[in-house]
Amino acid sequence: MGLFDKYNHIIDRHSKLDDFDVDPFNVCVERVISPTVGVINGQETILVGTNNYLGLTFEADCVDDAVKALKEYGTATTGSRIANGTYVDHVQLEQDIASFLNYRAAIVFPTGYQANLGILAGLADKSDTILLDADSHASIYDGCTLSGATMIRFRHNSPADLDKRLERLKDDKSNKLVVVESIYSMFGDRAPLDEFVDVKNRHGVSLLVDEAHSLGVFGDHGQGLAAEMGVGAEVDYTVGTFSKSLGAVGGFGASNHPLFETLRYTSRPYMYTASSSPSNVAAAITALRHIRTRPELRAKLWENAEMLYNCLSDLGYDICAPMSPIIALRMPDEETAIYHWNLLFKAGVYVNLALPPGAPNRTCLLRCSVSARHSSEQIGHIVDAFAKCSAIISPKAHQQAAVAL
Ligand code: PMP
Repeated sequence: MGLFDKYNHIIDRHSKLDDFDVDPFNVCVERVISPTVGVINGQETILVGTNNYLGLTFEADCVDDAVKALKEYGTATTGSRIANGTYVDHVQLEQDIASFLNYRAAIVFPTGYQANLGILAGLADKSDTILLDADSHASIYDGCTLSGATMIRFRHNSPADLDKRLERLKDDKSNKLVVVESIYSMFGDRAPLDEFVDVKNRHGVSLLVDEAHSLGVFGDHGQGLAAEMGVGAEVDYTVGTFSKSLGAVGGFGASNHPLFETLRYTSRPYMYTASSSPSNVAAAITALRHIRTRPELRAKLWENAEMLYNCLSDLGYDICAPMSPIIALRMPDEETAIYHWNLLFKAGVYVNLALPPGAPNRTCLLRCSVSARHSSEQIGHIVDAFAKCSAIISPKAHQQAAVAL
């Protein structure tokens, strides 16, 4: 038995992709022309699978402030937050996030993935119980595993199932933490956060919401879905990332708990890794200012999302969730999804391809994420490309459609 034998089925499956010019899971962007256009395989391509919701990656002052920080503080901190890796901007960013989300404190991590590891494994240990939505992101599952807590999955987006499971645990003395996301990255569906808050209050347990995809996207000032639904103050812990609407890299956890900052010297994913680079932190600080002060970016994002959603729906695509900037199209099978992805790519459009187990319920998806920076011409081009591809329902049809394109 070799160490890699366990991957044979994955290797076999991946070899199917050799028939195509481009492997959807190994795309290399050769040049970035703007937040919505890149050069891939020598071809100018419209990017509609980037999570760059507000298109801030090229915002002049975000870039300028990142360059300034690079020049003033260097390329990296070369140390952990608890050693030499806390600079004034890390502290500034934490204060900005805490005040933006009306929390007492925030803790910044190098990525959103690490924020979930660090907050979950910092808060819970083997004496605790975490109840998590079954469709939770890998970083939530990994954070729960790292914590050693008892993990109980409840049915996706079902406050009733959570309620039932908490009821069964009423004589169990362990601390309980409920974990949900606000908008789910694969299907783009929203959590009924008000109902989850209701359940957690009735059972007297804590609630953590991962707002990775909703920060900057929902709420009057972009604070996320909990704020938009008027339940922000009821969420005990919020986790988020800078890698989506903020157009940077990093993540955070935030809370009103008076002891929250204990995690700075108890959470291993916080302590045992180098802190975020100064340029990333500077870009995030400036991006957060844009999110707070420019509601027009959000308005444009939603206008674009509505346009693309309606057009794809008119073309007859099976869209996984009500309208949002994540527009996920359900494909009948893996082959169709891969062929469809390739045809779109040939037509100059990059979307995300998700195959099991990447998406829930063994679903195959083409996932678009809309940006405020898409022009109406670009949305028109994306829709045209989908229209040309929509006839494809089988690999055979792919051959014909490939000729037509
Ligand atoms: N949580 C959720 C819900 C996510 O979708 C993601 C990113 N896909 C993350 C956390 C991790 O964020 P990052 O890219 O900053 O590691």
